[in-house]
Amino acid sequence: MQHLEKEDYDLIAAAQKAIRLNYDSKRYHHTVGAAIRCKNGKIYVGVNLYSLHGACAEQVAIGTAITNGERDFDVIVAVRGKDGKEIISPCGNCRQILHDYMPECNVIVSVLGALKKITAKDLLPFSYSVE
Ligand SMILES: [Zn+2]
Repeated sequence: MQHLEKEDYDLIAAAQKAIRLNYDSKRYHHTVGAAIRCKNGKIYVGVNLYSLHGACAEQVAIGTAITNGERDFDVIVAVRGKDGKEIISPCGNCRQILHDYMPECNVIVSVLGALKKITAKDLLPFSYSVE
């Protein structure tokens, strides 16, 4: 695990801005924000779309980045709540997506209250693989 750098806090701020702008206090359809930074420095954000199987905020951010031609990813983070103060770990499905698309991408997680970065592949040991 790695410690965070200044630009990682900027990434968290981008995710927090995404959920602040879109937080749905009536139906709770948008409660999580995510931001992914590409190796070229560009940041893409997303918020979750609530449904039975959802679309997690990470998936929306990743999909937006890929749609814009990005393929090399550096760090991703997801935050929860009206102000996005809570850093949350990716769900199982997102861990598989991260593992499949960007195993070397760092994921910001909270470990006993301290923010750390861990690679996507280390978040999903013994993962399913099509190969
Ligand atoms: Zn997820």
